Amino acid sequence: MDGDGFTRCGRGHTHWGRFGAAGLLLFSQDHVLLQQRAWWCNGGGTWCLFGGGRHAGEDAVAAALRETTEESSLDVSLVRLHGRIEDDHGGWSYTTMVGSAPDRPPVRGVSNETKAARWVPVTEVDTLRLFAPFGAAWPTLRSMLTRVVLIVDAANVMGSRPDGWWRDRLGAARRLRDGLAALGPVPLGPFDEAYPEPVLVVEGAARPLESAGGVRVVAAPGSGDDEIVRQVGKDDAHYVVVTADRELRRRCEEAGAQVVGPRWLLDRLG
Ligand SMILES: [Zn+2]
Repeated sequence: MDGDGFTRCGRGHTHWGRFGAAGLLLFSQDHVLLQQRAWWCNGGGTWCLFGGGRHAGEDAVAAALRETTEESSLDVSLVRLHGRIEDDHGGWSYTTMVGSAPDRPPVRGVSNETKAARWVPVTEVDTLRLFAPFGAAWPTLRSMLTRVVLIVDAANVMGSRPDGWWRDRLGAARRLRDGLAALGPVPLGPFDEAYPEPVLVVEGAARPLESAGGVRVVAAPGSGDDEIVRQVGKDDAHYVVVTADRELRRRCEEAGAQVVGPRWLLDRLG
């Protein structure tokens, strides 16, 4: 059942989308993808995110990608999602899905609700005439154009779980890797829920472990700590390091990373 129609939220506003709404904030090379609304729409001629009302039972990811597919020529299989931001009004919410795509793929508008689709430089968005709700959210959203990279200190995290890892370090590292591969959304960085890119840094007997299931395994040539510090801040992503090692924590924070303890991760690996 589609959610077409207006509804009233707990704050007394009138919103489009009876089951809430979702939009895609897609960035690529310091640009964001925007939609210009057709003249006959509410806010005709203004710029906003691709998105719209959710169907009954449809999650925000599916809704944001479906609406983008219906309204533009973007191949959404190119989209890598990084996080979601919830604007909950009570009884109605708008969910922004933040993602990126490589190399600003060409996009045109394909629905009659879309006058144009354009990659707009981030620094020029506020020079356009923006759809009012998007214009209000933009100052916050522009600080959220980021990926989240989760770097796991394998030796330290394994050491804090007494599961017999000392008998088989490679096997324990593999279990940790497979747990990371199945990790669901987590509250990290600027997001209510982030979809982090996991990096597992292994050393010693765990070095032969291979990358799998979306988890990049990095074998430290020497000290695992030095390798972890090297991985932090390789680009402008939001880096989060999982370790209980105090000296490593200090070095990572100095390099600009957020640091969480092994318990934070283990509680989420089930
Ligand atoms: Zn509202």
